[in-house]
Amino acid sequence: MTVRTRIAPSPTGDPHVGTAYIALFNLCFARQHQGQFVLRIEDTDQARSTDDSEKMILDSLKWLGLEWDEGPDVGGAYGPYRQSERMDIYAGYAEQLVERGYAFKCYRTPEELDNIREAKKQNGDLSALNENDLKLDDRETQNRVAAGQLPVIRLKVPERGVCRFKDGLRGEIEIEWSRVDAQILLKTDGMPTYHLANVVDDHLMKITHVLRGEEWINSAPKHQLLYEYFGWEMPALIHLPLLRNPDKSKLSKRKNPTSILFYKKMGFLPEALVNYLGRMGWSMPDEREKFTLQEMLAHFDISRVSLGGPVFDVEKLRWLNACWIREELDTVQLAEKLRAWAFSEENILPVLSQLHQRIEVLSDVAPQAAFMFSGLLDLQEQDFLSASRQERDELLTHLQFTLWRLEALRHWTRETIFSEIKQLSESLQIKLKDFLPPIFVAIAGSTASFSVMDAMALLGPDMSRARLRHAIEVLGGVSKKQMKRLEKDYQALQQAVLP
Ligand code: GLU
Repeated sequence: MTVRTRIAPSPTGDPHVGTAYIALFNLCFARQHQGQFVLRIEDTDQARSTDDSEKMILDSLKWLGLEWDEGPDVGGAYGPYRQSERMDIYAGYAEQLVERGYAFKCYRTPEELDNIREAKKQNGDLSALNENDLKLDDRETQNRVAAGQLPVIRLKVPERGVCRFKDGLRGEIEIEWSRVDAQILLKTDGMPTYHLANVVDDHLMKITHVLRGEEWINSAPKHQLLYEYFGWEMPALIHLPLLRNPDKSKLSKRKNPTSILFYKKMGFLPEALVNYLGRMGWSMPDEREKFTLQEMLAHFDISRVSLGGPVFDVEKLRWLNACWIREELDTVQLAEKLRAWAFSEENILPVLSQLHQRIEVLSDVAPQAAFMFSGLLDLQEQDFLSASRQERDELLTHLQFTLWRLEALRHWTRETIFSEIKQLSESLQIKLKDFLPPIFVAIAGSTASFSVMDAMALLGPDMSRARLRHAIEVLGGVSKKQMKRLEKDYQALQQAVLP
C-alpha cells in the first residue's frame, strides 16, 4: 500500500497557521512512509470561497517550503483537485445511498426544523435530529413535491447504540449514535456538504491516512457510516491536537494573529515558523528546539505526537526566530533576507509612490516609511487622546467597530476599506475628518502619514487588523462586560443602516 495523505483547506479566509501545522504533519507522515501528499481545495461553500483565499493558502504553504505532490496547481492522476471542478461527481453518490436505503430525501423547511428541535428540547430529549423526527406523511410529501419544493438528502443514522472508531493517537473513541444527526449530504441546489464531498474525494483520491485537527472527531461517526454504506475502506484517522493560545483557549485571532501572512509581514523567517509548528505537540528524539524541515522529515514519527494542547506562543516563536537569525545567517545573508523582505521592488515601489511627492530629501524616506516596515507600533494612550477630540471610551468603541467592519471585509482594497470606514462614520454621525485620526494613529503611529486607506491596503488585512487590536489594548482594552454592550450597540447600528 502506498501511503497517501492530504490537506483539504477551505479557501474562505486568511491562510491560517493551523492549516500549515496540519500540512506539515501530513507531509512528514507521507514522507516517513515514502508516500504522497495531496493538496485538495474544499470549496463547496461557493458563497464563502474565494480565488484570492485559495491563492494565499497555496502561496503561504509554498513560502513555508511545504510542497505537495498533487494539487490544483501541479495536477496529478486523481484530479481535479478543486471540489468546485468535481461537482458532477457527488450527487450520483448521494442518490445511490437513497436508492439503497441509506439516505433519505427530506422536505422540511428551516422553520420546521427549528420547531422540531425546540419541541424535542421541551420534552427533555437531547438527542440529535433523526429520520423519525423529520418524517412527513406520504400525502404531505406528495403535496410538497407537487408544489415544486426541492428536498435535501440526509444520512440515515442509527438511533441507538454506540459508534466506535479508531483514532491513531487516542485508540478507540466511542460516540453515542443518538448524538449524531441525520446529516445533510446534498443540499436543495444539488451541492454536496463537506461530509459527502470529503469522504467521496478521500476515497477516489486513494487517501490512506487522514491527519486533521481534533475539531473533526465528532464528524468521524458520519464519515464511518458513509464508508460503510458505500462499502469502501475507511482511511486511518489521526486527529492532531488543536493549537492553543497561551491561556489554553483554542487559537483565535482575537488573542493571537493566526494568519501566516501576518508572520511573513512581521519578518519571521519561514524556516523558523515551520520549525516552531513542528514543535507543536511533537519533538525531535533528542528534544532539540531548533531543527530544519529536512531534519524533521528525517526523524518524523507520528507516535511522538503528544495530545496535551500545544500552545502557539508568539514570544516563544520570536525567541526561536532570533536563534535562526543569529545562528544561521551571516551579515551578508541577513542583508539579503532583509532586501527580499523589505526592499524588493514589489514591496518598496508602492510605498515610494506614496512618498514621492511628500519628501524633500532622501533621508525623509526612512522616518516616513518606518511604520510600513514595522510590526506592532510602540504607542501610548496619549498618542490617541492628543490626536482626537474623543474621550477614551468613545475611541475604544470606534476602534472596535472599525475592527469588526474590517474583519468582515472580504476584498481588501483601498476602495473597499474606504467605503467600510465611511459608512461606519456616517452611521455614527461623525464626520470622516473626526473619525479618521485615531485610525491613523493605530495604523501609522501619527496623523501625519500618507493616506491611511492606502497604508492599510499595502499592509494587508492581517497587519492592519492586528494594529487596530493593539490600539484597543493600548487604550486599556475592552472587558467582557463592555464587549457584550459593544456587540449589542454594533448590531443595533448595523440594523439601523440596513435599507
Ligand atoms: N475542509 C475541511 C477544513 O477546512 C477539511 C477537514 C478535513 O481534513 O477533513 O478544514
